[in-house]
Amino acid sequence: MGRDGVDANGGMSEGSPIEALIELLKRISKSSNIDPQVMDDVIRALLSDSEGKGLSDEDLEKITGHRQGVIRRALRLLHDLRLATYRRGRHPETKATRYYWTLDGDRINIVLYQLKRNVLEKLRARLQYEESNEFFVCPKCNVRYEFNEAFEYDFTCPRCGSLLVEHDNKVAVATLRAVIKKLEEEIRGDEEKIFRG
Ligand SMILES: [Zn+2]
Repeated sequence: MGRDGVDANGGMSEGSPIEALIELLKRISKSSNIDPQVMDDVIRALLSDSEGKGLSDEDLEKITGHRQGVIRRALRLLHDLRLATYRRGRHPETKATRYYWTLDGDRINIVLYQLKRNVLEKLRARLQYEESNEFFVCPKCNVRYEFNEAFEYDFTCPRCGSLLVEHDNKVAVATLRAVIKKLEEEIRGDEEKIFRG
């Protein structure tokens, strides 16, 4: 796959919206001096709290293996972003005050909806690019070049010297169209849930 290459998912290399959300939170963590790996582990633990009873920092320590101090910093950031909420409770044995953390599902859904729309914009731009350009590919290196680049290189691969051949991007275009259609339907469903629900 060249630098213009479209992967098997039709350019969705950023993965699912949930993964995009995790990536975004890791970036925000980094700029807030919080270990992105701690954020990654904490958010995944909260996402897998299917009973929705909430997890205390002690629970999160057991699940993630990180220290409670760094876990609390990640939780505070999620709280500042209004993505996580807590309820006050009592430790079952010691009766000490405990905070049980859960993700705010409605807020998460709104952020995911926005991320999906960003992904859709990127995919539409990608489709437009694929449809309005001609490409050439090196059969040996599998690197793809736009027509102008290939022309500049005299249709010879700058890496290995092989003759470049025309690249048929029909499959990539069809894949992109299918992914876009699916995402558009998903977004319409989200809109009904979020704005009319
Ligand atoms: Zn080559």
